[in-house]
Amino acid sequence: MPEDSVHRSASGDPVLLTPGPLTTSVAVKQAMQHDAGSRDPAFIEMNRRVRERLVGIAGGSERHLCVPVQGSGTFAVEAMLGSLLPRNGRLLNLVNGAYGRRISTICDYLGRERVELTFPEDRPVDPAQVAAALAADAGITHVALVHCETTSGIANPLTAVADVVRAAGRALLVDAMSSFGALPIDADVLGLAAVAASANKCLQGAPGLAFCIVDEAVLSAADGNAHSLCLDLQAQARAMAGNGQWRFTPPTHCVLALAEALDELQAEGGPPAREARYRNNCRVLVEGMRALGFRPVLEPALQAPIIVTFHQPRDPGWDFTRFYNALAARGFLIYPGKLTEAASFRVGCIGAIDATVITAFLDAVRAVLDELQIHDTGP
Ligand SMILES: *Cc1c(COP(=O)(O)O)cnc(C)c1O
Repeated sequence: MPEDSVHRSASGDPVLLTPGPLTTSVAVKQAMQHDAGSRDPAFIEMNRRVRERLVGIAGGSERHLCVPVQGSGTFAVEAMLGSLLPRNGRLLNLVNGAYGRRISTICDYLGRERVELTFPEDRPVDPAQVAAALAADAGITHVALVHCETTSGIANPLTAVADVVRAAGRALLVDAMSSFGALPIDADVLGLAAVAASANKCLQGAPGLAFCIVDEAVLSAADGNAHSLCLDLQAQARAMAGNGQWRFTPPTHCVLALAEALDELQAEGGPPAREARYRNNCRVLVEGMRALGFRPVLEPALQAPIIVTFHQPRDPGWDFTRFYNALAARGFLIYPGKLTEAASFRVGCIGAIDATVITAFLDAVRAVLDELQIHDTGP
């Protein structure tokens, strides 16, 4: 491979066109070149400030708290369900992809009762059906929604679902993992009980830290719910309210990286500016891939600007692993598909990348199609 056809990020790494971990800025990586004392006042103050800023990004008020947990995003989802669902509660889980199904799996591990309302993977959750399901079952105490279902890249109607859940007097738990920091979330106005997210998606931090934005009233009513010491949000919140410290070893380098990443988000113009950059990335990607014959799975109006799912080409010579490897050799890492219904692959629009990177990616795709002799890229 000639050196000039290999793309590299600013730090010399391949570009991650994946929904997290993703390409972070050089400054975010440099922020981790330090050792922070977990009980030291400087770290405690940085941690406090990070939590405060995360509440702001969620559209929270004084009623809301950010409770961090060590681990990947799923740790926060499990902490949210385990800590906030009473052991005799019943969850209505709204499912249109693998992350929704994961919420049911977590409930099954925890022994929490759940019922599913499922939708096709290429259709959004329908608020009218949610309203009907709540009206039909008075035993449902909580509802779970995945904001952007990263399986397909679909945007679910958070506001409309929140309106229905609030009107029915139930509590809404949101998995906002792949939307937090880019798509609007108004926890206070929407009356959300909790929102789970992580540092390493639209916030463009390092993986290893996740968090829930929780309504304080919901958290103080959560006595005795938690199934797990490590994932007990109430205990974590109480300890932090006491001495400002994490209960167990914090991912100090991730907190340092997240503090820098939040500075960058603010400098960029906050979530609206980030959403606009991602939308532009997504538009350039979809237009360019369409011009090469690829077809996205979702209708344009349903597509969130986070990750795009494409149908695998029908060309008899098509092989995803060869396609992946040839793109990786040119400096771009993409994602396999996760749909149960259609053979697909995914390309992320998020991270410290702009449309020039997407354009370079499209050049690489063109070269790879040529190299692998793939002519028929339609589904
Ligand atoms: C990434 C993601 C998660 C969490 O995944 P981890 O691999 O545990 O970080 C959960 N829900 C959604 C919608 C996601 O995109």
